Amino acid sequence: MQRKASAAAETTAPARAFIASLPKTEIHLHIEGLVSVDSIWSLIKKHRLDLGIGSKEELKKRFHVTSLTEFIDLFINIIQACFLTEDDLTYLVDDTRHYLSRNNIRYAEIFFAPTKLIKNGLDFDRMVDRLDEGANQLRSEGIDVRYIVDVSRGFGLENAMRNLDLILAHPTPNVIGLGLGGAEQTGPAKDYEAVFEKARAAGLKVVAHAGEDVGPASIWDTIDILGAQRIGHGISAIQDEKLMTELTSRRIPLEICPTSNLFTQKYAKTLAEHPIRAFFDHGMYVTINTDDPTLFGVDLNDEYARLLESGIFTVDELLTILKNGVYATFLPKKRQNEIWNEIAAVVKKSDFAATLPK
Ligand SMILES: [Zn+2]
Repeated sequence: MQRKASAAAETTAPARAFIASLPKTEIHLHIEGLVSVDSIWSLIKKHRLDLGIGSKEELKKRFHVTSLTEFIDLFINIIQACFLTEDDLTYLVDDTRHYLSRNNIRYAEIFFAPTKLIKNGLDFDRMVDRLDEGANQLRSEGIDVRYIVDVSRGFGLENAMRNLDLILAHPTPNVIGLGLGGAEQTGPAKDYEAVFEKARAAGLKVVAHAGEDVGPASIWDTIDILGAQRIGHGISAIQDEKLMTELTSRRIPLEICPTSNLFTQKYAKTLAEHPIRAFFDHGMYVTINTDDPTLFGVDLNDEYARLLESGIFTVDELLTILKNGVYATFLPKKRQNEIWNEIAAVVKKSDFAATLPK
């Protein structure tokens, strides 16, 4: 047993090192989901918040969520409850820096959900200014980020429209789009048609979570009614061959987050059961992302490594998916090419890829 375990570790370590060495992009990532325990603990102390959490150790335990209820409680009642001034957003920018550098991510499109923070008393324009300064600072350090404002189905159409109007009244090149999130069960995509139509007309990029917790009809609505340019998750498409073909022929990227999907336990109970392989074989435009890395205890490096170690994808196939991740961004083609060329140069220099079976 001992020898077997160490042999596995030997084959794993070079694979992990190779994955870590690759520059990457990430396109489905929530800024509140990458916040560190340290930041939240600092904010609890700063604002002397009484959240029933007496120590950092206790907070750390709360971050180890094991059910959707615990996840939502942590997200809304602890994480989002700690941001009470615009200055607090500095913590998010710092955590973004750490997460992206740790995973060698050159460029990320990150969701930011303002609604709860506005309810906490923060001002939208000042929040955007802080995040804007943060993005400019990170860019000067070689880390490129853009934000997508995430409106939750849980807060309804009027709130979504209000958020859109706020974005349009305070534009910045760092805020590039609008995303629909929240529980699919509570808010069908079609309810948000007017918001998406207005966002598209204003030149914003539009994406939506769909097919994460609800069947294929939710994805159909998202592409046909909302005109979403990318689908968050989209894994219930596995139940609808016609939809899979449609997504393939329209080249609509799927922002797949394997660990998050296993956490939800809706359309895959194990990684081996995850439809990502079937999607890939069908020719669909799949990308790999983390969704909420701190909350799921996963890094983007881990997501790639697990798919390789489990034998679901070969190195070459993972590189194809990594490339998809670059070209599914909303960056101009020229910048996408630059990032891909940088990745290709790292692959060329590494002799690791050649050591694994194709
Ligand atoms: Zn998400």
